[in-house]
Amino acid sequence: MFRTIKRYFRKGEFDCDDVADHSSDYIDNDLKEDKRSAFLAHLSNCGPCQAFVGTLSSTIGALGRLPGVNVPSALKQSLLDRMHRGN
Ligand SMILES: [Zn+2]
Repeated sequence: MFRTIKRYFRKGEFDCDDVADHSSDYIDNDLKEDKRSAFLAHLSNCGPCQAFVGTLSSTIGALGRLPGVNVPSALKQSLLDRMHRGN
């Protein structure tokens, strides 16, 4: 997402929107080192994001452990969207 990239380069740190945008990559272990640090730095200071990533990761983890189940990215995205809106 272009807006996110510009914001990331401007401040060098993640805000809550950035965390939501990158959390599925983080859970898939697919973040580059610098983004991963920024992600974790935000997480360590933000309770709501910790709860968000924890819930998302256990949901996706539980689905991913079922044999033959490949969590569709559309499902991940809808979870992200719903959680980020705070219902
Ligand atoms: Zn946050």
